[in-house]
Amino acid sequence: MKGTLDELQYSVELLEGSAALRDVIDKHIHDQTLALKSAFFVADLGVIVRQQICWRTKMDQIRPFYAVKSNSSPVVVEILAALGTGFVCSNKHELDLVKGFGVPSQDIILGGTCKQLSHIKYAAKHNIPLLVCDNEAELRKIARCHPKAKVLLLLTSESCCEREEMAIPFGSTLKDCRHLLECARELSLRVTGVKFNIPSCCQDAQAFSRAVSDARCVFDMGEELGFEMNILDIGGGFDGSEAQLDKVHQTLKPMLDMYFPLSTGLSIIAEPGAYYVSSAFTLAVNIIAKTTVARDCSDQPHKVLSANDEPEFLYYMNDGVYGSFANKLLCEDSISTPSAHKELSTEEPLFSSSLWGPSADDLDQVVERCLLPELSVGDWLLFSNAGANGLGSEHKPPVFYSITECDWQEIHNCGVNLDTSMKNFSLGPCCLQPSMSDASISTPA
Ligand SMILES: *Cc1c(COP(=O)(O)O)cnc(C)c1O
Repeated sequence: MKGTLDELQYSVELLEGSAALRDVIDKHIHDQTLALKSAFFVADLGVIVRQQICWRTKMDQIRPFYAVKSNSSPVVVEILAALGTGFVCSNKHELDLVKGFGVPSQDIILGGTCKQLSHIKYAAKHNIPLLVCDNEAELRKIARCHPKAKVLLLLTSESCCEREEMAIPFGSTLKDCRHLLECARELSLRVTGVKFNIPSCCQDAQAFSRAVSDARCVFDMGEELGFEMNILDIGGGFDGSEAQLDKVHQTLKPMLDMYFPLSTGLSIIAEPGAYYVSSAFTLAVNIIAKTTVARDCSDQPHKVLSANDEPEFLYYMNDGVYGSFANKLLCEDSISTPSAHKELSTEEPLFSSSLWGPSADDLDQVVERCLLPELSVGDWLLFSNAGANGLGSEHKPPVFYSITECDWQEIHNCGVNLDTSMKNFSLGPCCLQPSMSDASISTPA
């Protein structure tokens, strides 16, 4: 982030009448096609507002702390700060960003289990009390640099599914937790609660049941040792769909009721990241090159296509895993099939296609195989659910923000005073091409 927040102004296009996100995408594709054909994001900020309303409706007893690393655009942080979520930060930069929007220190968690000393000192200096910890060395660092901290102990969860070999074993076992609690007592450090984290791919009833009952054990051990245990943090792993939120709620609710009946002083919190931002962002990329190979021979790209082979297309795009698709390197199936922007008839034949970034590197394969109509160099592809793919890096493509009038009104309905919050939002009419625009949309002066 450059400059002070006072200087930050982001222009947000206000969609009036029947104008929709699709019109905004069309407009920018039109503009880019005449210019450099660079990749770009379009964001619908209304999604973030609606996700917050949905969370409040379904998870009202669980306060969300947004995981800033999912998408650290100041626009996202400012809107969530206005809507009243807490924040989980993983470094000093993120702490700075969140503090800059006036978020109270007690609404911020310094997450991550391996912390740079200067970041712990920074949290101490700014009276940010909540820190996550899962090992003794970290506990000693915290005791030394931030003696007034309130520590959340991170429990391990059973690692699940195919990703087992990739999973780094964060968190501590019940036995380790006892040791850490004793150690904290010796260091005169306060432990205030327990965190667990169950990734979306592992969310079955058993995983939750185990995590909640283990957390109860740690609460009991802590209380036995004289700690005031009052925060249960259920972590992240919410993919953003309402159905998944319902499912988690249905699974978790009876367990929480049993092990953590809401009593005085107990707070239950969560750390949703992707939940808020994933579907709010769409990435538009341009096809910069294309090759054709015979189907099923993609490992021998030079095989000559014979007359009765079905072709497979390899498309190269102007963004890849070293850019906006960084998530692909962390999680194999994180990128879903894009759609072609150009209008195509539904009878258009589909071909096996693979999608590559521009780097000419074997790792830079964004989608291994999907079915798409035949596309040409210069065509655009749209990737939805692109909001949690590691935005916020210095070299990300530009983001065009928009919100519908109706969603802007919803922010107001959520109790946000628009005269005093969201000061950096510079709302302007959306300047769509006359041919695309609704009659009610004014053209710029
Ligand atoms: C990334 C992250 C999350 C959010 O994960 P999602 O799967 O996006 O919900 C929560 N907590 C911490 C500490 C994280 O780093």
